[in-house]
Amino acid sequence: MTRLVLLNQALRLTDNALLQQQGDCMALVLLEKSQFFGSQLGITRASPLRLGHQLWLLEDFRLQLASLKVPLLCVLADNQSLLPELIHELGIRSVVMAEPVADEERQLQQLAAQYVPVSSVDLNSLLGDSLRPELAALPDSFSQFRKEREPKLQVSSACADNNISGRWLGATELAKTKESVAKLLALESKWQQQLLLCPKPQQIPLATEEQQQAQFLAYLYQTKAIYHYKQSRNQFCDLAADGTIPPAGQTPSYASFLSTALSHGSLSVRWVWQQICQLEQTLGGNDSTYWLKFELLWREYFRWQQRKFGNLLFHQRGLGRHPVPEPQGDTTLQQLKFQLWCHGETGMPLVDANMRFLLQNGLMSNRGRQLVASYLIYDLALDWRLGAAFFEQQLLDYDVASNWGNWAYIAGAGTAPGRYFNQLKQALQFDPAAVFIRSQLPELHSLGLAAHLPYLASAAAPYAAQLALPPARPDWHSSLEKLQQQLQNP
Ligand SMILES: Cc1cc2nc3c(=O)[nH]c(=O)nc-3n(C[C@H](O)[C@H](O)[C@H](O)COP(=O)(O)OP(=O)(O)OC[C@H]3O[C@@H](n4cnc5c(N)ncnc54)[C@H](O)[C@@H]3O)c2cc1C
Repeated sequence: MTRLVLLNQALRLTDNALLQQQGDCMALVLLEKSQFFGSQLGITRASPLRLGHQLWLLEDFRLQLASLKVPLLCVLADNQSLLPELIHELGIRSVVMAEPVADEERQLQQLAAQYVPVSSVDLNSLLGDSLRPELAALPDSFSQFRKEREPKLQVSSACADNNISGRWLGATELAKTKESVAKLLALESKWQQQLLLCPKPQQIPLATEEQQQAQFLAYLYQTKAIYHYKQSRNQFCDLAADGTIPPAGQTPSYASFLSTALSHGSLSVRWVWQQICQLEQTLGGNDSTYWLKFELLWREYFRWQQRKFGNLLFHQRGLGRHPVPEPQGDTTLQQLKFQLWCHGETGMPLVDANMRFLLQNGLMSNRGRQLVASYLIYDLALDWRLGAAFFEQQLLDYDVASNWGNWAYIAGAGTAPGRYFNQLKQALQFDPAAVFIRSQLPELHSLGLAAHLPYLASAAAPYAAQLALPPARPDWHSSLEKLQQQLQNP
């Protein structure tokens, strides 16, 4: 009675009920090729950086499990044909996996269920087990959701201890025929070839679960940076006390940097929640410790919204409850505007700085994500789904519910009216000395505060004309005036 344990989005040892089995079992991670190499709206789904990051994160986990005598088979393939074959050739009698959030993950579950019984564990939600909400009764707005759920949030681990149990067998041990063994060996060597073809990303440190836990505990207890989270989370990068950018190589601490580990399931969100509560009980809490939990509830909200509304959230008009801006201009103009946005060349300094940061690092601050999304939707008048698809391609912390949910939220395609951001006002508020802008845009580096002025860079000026954007939107006037005054009286 061999059980197949699918460890997709469960790349961890702590709080991982999937590793606690009885009897014979086999561990597998099955990545669907089309989710990386396919395209949506003409945009490839994963950049080489995101693909490389995912593969090497997985390889590190495979080696870690191997040292604990749990052989893990990693495959990047077409699941439709491979999964039924594996189930048949390995004599699999049941499958267990992390509970899906979106349709594509659910397809894997449904595919397996055509052949054997499938069960799932909601490993990556705060609201598991007895806290689980009824989808039909789920409140629409985040505030309602938070008010209802927060008082009940006595989060416990999904499992009592972190022991691994079960008799873990390698795929080749399970293969019934010589042909099957040969096929499985070929799959293993294909994985190694794929790794060779996809070099380990050098600019992004890959952290193991242990390192990620240590990093988060240092954020709580050593640097104690969590105590200023509510203020610093609005920055675009770390800033030293004198307002300059600290040298590269230090772990940033303006926010928690949990998202990449949470999106791959290499940290347990319940473990994170418990660590914050423990800090509050031992050293005391403040607005900021509360606010980190508040943001984790946003993540939770989008997960349940995705489960409730499913694919409707991927439509241009979304749920159809609020107006969503229609894309403007002919296709060529839209393509031009989109390409400028993707490359950080729109001429709007803070937007460009954030986009170039994304291209370089595979990440962007939350404030940055909101601003570039608003600019694409409300200033460039493009289809919000283009932006969401580009983020999906680039973000190392890509998470279907958080990404598409936030984009839909800003566009007004979700449960609430859309959110427009005044770019210039935000720039002066959150990057007052244009430090971040100048760090990312060499062409504006020497300009000081004037780097804030839209379409100033000579390369960008012609674009502004082509895009038919007004040189100054009416709602920028007061910010422009303030900026002119500062420039005249430095
Ligand atoms: C347009 C847009 C797209 C986004 N795409 C993603 C994505 O693909 N993957 C992703 O993990 N987050 C996404 N976010 C949410 C948020 O920007 C990131 O989670 C955050 O910037 C990651 O950095 P951090 O872990 O240091 O965050 P912190 O500020 O330290 O927050 C802690 C955790 O809370 C959660 N969180 C914080 N803000 C949000 C939010 N607005 N929505 C949902 N969860 C939140 C995340 O799990 C995050 O790791 C997106 C936001 C926007 C506006």
